[in-house]
Amino acid sequence: MSDGMKKVLGVKSLNFKLWTYFMTFAAIIMIILWLLQIVFINSFYKTMKTNEIKKIGNQLVALYGTEEFEQELLDKSFSEGIVINILNQDGGVVYPLDIMDFIRRPRLQESAFSQFLNQLYMSEDNFTVYTRSHESLDAETIVYGAVLENRVGPNYFLFINTILEPIDSTVNVLKNQLLVITLISLVLSMGLSLFLSNRLSAPIISITRSAKGLGEGRYDVEFRKGDYQEIDNLADTLSQATKELKKSEELRRDFIANITHDLKTPLTLIKSYGEMIRDISGDNIQKRDEHLNTIIQETDKLSRLVDDMLDLTKIQSELRELKMEEFDLRNESEHVLERFSYFVENEGFEITLSSEGETGLIGDKLKISQAIYNLVNNAINYSLDDKRIEIKMEGNLDEVKFSIKDYGQGIHKEEQDYIWERYYRGGKSHTRQKTGSGIGLSLVKTIVLAHKGHVGVESSPGEGSIFWFILPRNLKE
Ligand code: ADP
Repeated sequence: MSDGMKKVLGVKSLNFKLWTYFMTFAAIIMIILWLLQIVFINSFYKTMKTNEIKKIGNQLVALYGTEEFEQELLDKSFSEGIVINILNQDGGVVYPLDIMDFIRRPRLQESAFSQFLNQLYMSEDNFTVYTRSHESLDAETIVYGAVLENRVGPNYFLFINTILEPIDSTVNVLKNQLLVITLISLVLSMGLSLFLSNRLSAPIISITRSAKGLGEGRYDVEFRKGDYQEIDNLADTLSQATKELKKSEELRRDFIANITHDLKTPLTLIKSYGEMIRDISGDNIQKRDEHLNTIIQETDKLSRLVDDMLDLTKIQSELRELKMEEFDLRNESEHVLERFSYFVENEGFEITLSSEGETGLIGDKLKISQAIYNLVNNAINYSLDDKRIEIKMEGNLDEVKFSIKDYGQGIHKEEQDYIWERYYRGGKSHTRQKTGSGIGLSLVKTIVLAHKGHVGVESSPGEGSIFWFILPRNLKE
């Protein structure tokens, strides 16, 4: 069975889930329908009828004594198909009467009339509604009664009577209908869930396939889009991740190429100078010392390179626990600059430092010094003939900005986003004498971000660069 099939059929599959949701939904609707249509229909019907008859009764009572009363009484008994009587105190029918009734003197049945009176007197309102069963009819009737007050003579009673027709046959029809509806909705929900889950899962399956390709190292995979928003977002995120992976893979490859080149040059030099001492200059102390010095310098270069590489991994793991302390950024920068005095004294560099406002802050002193060190180191490394370097600091209540300006080679606009990446080295030319690992700026960025600050660069080729970072002072009391 293919992976896709398994996913469509499994208990955890989208199809199964959708199917269960649809089934539950259909079942709930069916249960509600059954309850309303079958179980409660009798009491619904009864309540409805009762309310209807109560309304008619109360309307008539309100109209009693006016001219419309008799007309309304006639209308209602015809249109609603109910029996309306007006009775006197003895249960005798006063209305409606035809000529023959003057002789017959129709009356309400004794038992019915006494029940009527009882109900009426027990009622707290001035009317009553109750049901009465009739064995002969095999049905119930709803009776409404109210007192019609006369100004002259004894009061009359309004007596309304309607039969509650049995609705069993209707219920049976409904039952059959519901059964059909239930079956149809089961089939429909099954089909719909299958259709929907296919529509929903097809893009997921396709994206999974692409992601698998990515896992196997294929960076040219495409994530299918265009089905629905959520999938589009997922595809975008994965494409972005692929781009990043691809970039870091390229950078890693470049780094290895660079680093092997950078390792190889000093190693070759060390080896050849060693051989020279062994074969030629061994006895000539002056020459030997010169050669030994070159070996020592090259070894230093190598160990700096290795330190750089170690630093990055170390700092990244250490950054999780910054050692926060209060210190002055200006003082620290001055300390860092002391380490570059060689360049000022011997190589003609002119480094100035100025500050404005408060420069005290709480942060990891050592790491921030390392960031400053890297920036100064770069400024020196990438300076050309103009060897001025200007460091400025500006502090306000919340933040301190540090910036370092050089008049060196500058950086192309397109490159400015990449220089912060680990292993990225500008220019890609190995003809430059500078040995760098492409780690310096990535460390600066990592350190500043760990302090919740930002970094940036403004630069144009040939004119020099300004690297800056802003750190929160964290001094709010
Ligand atoms: P590297 O070890 O190569 O100096 P960095 O991460 O410190 O590595 O810098 C990355 C790249 O950014 C450098 O290779 C260089 O091209 C560019 N860069 C950094 N600082 C400067 C600067 N002050 N002037 C010009 N280019 C710079």
